[in-house]
Amino acid sequence: MSTPALMPVYPRSGVRPVRGEHCHLIDENGTRYLDFASGIAVNLLGHSHAGLIGAIQQQAATLMHVSNLYGSPQGEKLAQWLVDVTFGDTVFFTNSGAEACECAIKTARAYHQNAEGGDTNRFEIITFHNAFHGRTMATISASNQEKMHHGFSPLLNGFKYAPFDDLEAAKSLIGPNTAGIMVEPIQGEGGIRPASPEFMQGLRDLCDEHGIMLILDEVQCGVARTGTFYAYEQYGIVPDILATAKGIGGGFPLGACIATEKAARGMTFGTHGSTYGGNPLAMAAGMAVMEAVANDEFLSSVREKGERLRARLEQFIGNYPELFELVRGMGLMLGLKMRMESRPFYVHLRDNHQLLTVAAGDNTLRILPPLVIGDAEMDEFFDKLSAGAASFKVPEAA
Ligand SMILES: *Cc1c(COP(=O)(O)O)cnc(C)c1O
Repeated sequence: MSTPALMPVYPRSGVRPVRGEHCHLIDENGTRYLDFASGIAVNLLGHSHAGLIGAIQQQAATLMHVSNLYGSPQGEKLAQWLVDVTFGDTVFFTNSGAEACECAIKTARAYHQNAEGGDTNRFEIITFHNAFHGRTMATISASNQEKMHHGFSPLLNGFKYAPFDDLEAAKSLIGPNTAGIMVEPIQGEGGIRPASPEFMQGLRDLCDEHGIMLILDEVQCGVARTGTFYAYEQYGIVPDILATAKGIGGGFPLGACIATEKAARGMTFGTHGSTYGGNPLAMAAGMAVMEAVANDEFLSSVREKGERLRARLEQFIGNYPELFELVRGMGLMLGLKMRMESRPFYVHLRDNHQLLTVAAGDNTLRILPPLVIGDAEMDEFFDKLSAGAASFKVPEAA
């Protein structure tokens, strides 16, 4: 057998973490890395957060899993909290972001198809170039990125793609089959690209005008990452349906699809389900995260740190105009757009300066620290980043 026991779908690096301490990861050899990737926007409380550990330990010892065939006091509590702090009226819990997007897509289709006088012709969802919604068949079909499609045809029918931030293009795709529009307010994998306020407002207006669903994929930008609980709050609009995951479990696998009562009208008994989704252990993790982040004090600290990090990044890139083009993003979801592919620099920071970031599309380096960073971590980040930029040799173009 030459195939590794772990299916080789990831180009795994030599970093092999075995322990986490606050904003650092420690690998098999005892090497410490500063973690400004956070498991890709997941570990928003950092590693080994006492409140999160305590909640999971206590729940594990009390009741880990029961079927969704039974009543869920734990699920009702977390769902109510999410309803209280968002546009939504009702929540379906999942185990991942892709499943949250799947539920959002089904909810939008069912809104049209599974209602009195429903329109079974409405099934199309308009999505955007370089979007990322996950790796299931529906969610790869929802992206125009061919590298994710290759080898998996046929795709799920019913997605149309418009250039990101191009309102006219989205408008021109709306027709009698359109069920909704799905968009990341800030593209994550696509390169930390925030949509313009005009675009988001325009999508909201188009959806209202045509009676179709506005679905936001806030899997990466949601849960306090941008300094508001969800990013849509900063755009002054509300969606009909929202997919959330990553940070919401703080590292425990958890996602959710949140919808208004109206948008969820088709999601009736028996239309959807999940064995694990919303089990007591996941709910305990979600509650611990909410207790930490869903308050004004925490959210304003994220905004304040985000502004400071951004200002320092902007000052820093001025020293290396040949490497960096600009800084973009919101809160602690920041991207450094480079003048070349970002991957070699990301590898250099990781392997030579023990600084973990994430490469993304559009030549962008993603900077996604735990939301609990302090001054010490920010200073350490700039020490490593400066040393990394000074020692970086741009690879010869192939
Ligand atoms: C990560 C991500 C997903 C997929 O989440 P998984 O938990 O990996 O399934 C979907 N949408 C966005 C915007 C993401 O960043």
